[in-house]
Amino acid sequence: MKLPVYLDNNATTPMDPLVLEEMLPFFLEKFGNAASRTHSFGWEAEEAVDIARENVAALIGAHPQEIVFTSGATEAVNLAIKGIWESKTTEKRHIITVSTEHKAVLDTCKHIEKVGGAVTYLPVQTDGIINLEDLKAAIRPDTLLIAVMYANNETGVIQPIRQIGAIAKEHGILFFTDASQALGKIAINVQADDIDLLACSAHKLYGPKGVGALYVRKKNPAVALTAQIDGGGHERSMRSGTLNVPGVVAFGKACEISNEKLTKESERLASLRDRFENQLITLPNVVINGNHTQRLPHATNISFHNIDGEKLIFEAANDIAFSRSSACTSATLEPSYVLKAMGLSDELIHNTFRFSLGRFSTEEQVDHAVKVISKIVKEHRSEGNYGHHQVI
Ligand SMILES: *Cc1c(COP(=O)(O)O)cnc(C)c1O
Repeated sequence: MKLPVYLDNNATTPMDPLVLEEMLPFFLEKFGNAASRTHSFGWEAEEAVDIARENVAALIGAHPQEIVFTSGATEAVNLAIKGIWESKTTEKRHIITVSTEHKAVLDTCKHIEKVGGAVTYLPVQTDGIINLEDLKAAIRPDTLLIAVMYANNETGVIQPIRQIGAIAKEHGILFFTDASQALGKIAINVQADDIDLLACSAHKLYGPKGVGALYVRKKNPAVALTAQIDGGGHERSMRSGTLNVPGVVAFGKACEISNEKLTKESERLASLRDRFENQLITLPNVVINGNHTQRLPHATNISFHNIDGEKLIFEAANDIAFSRSSACTSATLEPSYVLKAMGLSDELIHNTFRFSLGRFSTEEQVDHAVKVISKIVKEHRSEGNYGHHQVI
């Protein structure tokens, strides 16, 4: 077994070798610009982009013409929120989002507040899920957009997307979801869920970094967006710039593979994740955070009482790659705002970790990770009182 074991697939996934194989010819032999209309190099590239567009659309139940390729989910989020804001023709100026969204959404909403918008940040319950009554109560006559992520990157918790879509539709409000973590992991259907805009990224489902997409509904309603990048009018004038053809081809292939494997893969990963959790919770004072059923199959977020989280990360680093729910910013330790919103104490957040499995995770890797973590946790607890987090 190659060490360290990679258990941070929510941060990024390795490429699937089949995806790499699919994209490689588009660097050398098939290097054409998909916008070149006068020769076979361009036609070949355009045809490949069309196939990719169909594969991305198929994974979310959309029409290929509703897919706008971008440089990733962050750009897609910016295009969705700023694009809707700038194209509005009415007095509507209110956006509803959630305090546990990815920074791509939160920071874009902050920008909207700076330019005169009003934003409501909904709280979450202790299981990480929003209360639909809070959502309904937050709706105002001038609400333009509801932005709620499909599944959370830190906890894997899945929001009640179908109900949110129905509520938005009932009130004539547009519904945007950041599905970066959910795409290819669970079934998504923009029709059934009444989603108007959806952001996603290739590198979260075994594709390359630097390519993503925004789904923009074309019918019932036809969503109008103001472009954030002007230029040659590519992507139905919503995102100008020569397409990253190899990246787009790879994204399409990644979606095709995930679509084929979805059910089997999510079952396998859920059972592997359960195997991991079930062994770790035999240790005392271990807590699994977030709703236990409404969550992605491959991820878990775990707190260990009475340990030194900082020390654990370093002691485990040669064996396991995973992530901690607090980030070092200059001299202080910043506890995760997602877990804070769920009511966890700062002290416990410092001892909380995210483990996310993926297509290439094995039982052997999971068992090794359990062995290493259990050993460190036991050592910390026998060494003495780590009840209080040391300030570094
Ligand atoms: C990774 C991620 C993003 C950002 O995606 P990029 O393609 O890296 O810009 C946005 N939202 C969520 C929920 C993510 O997990």
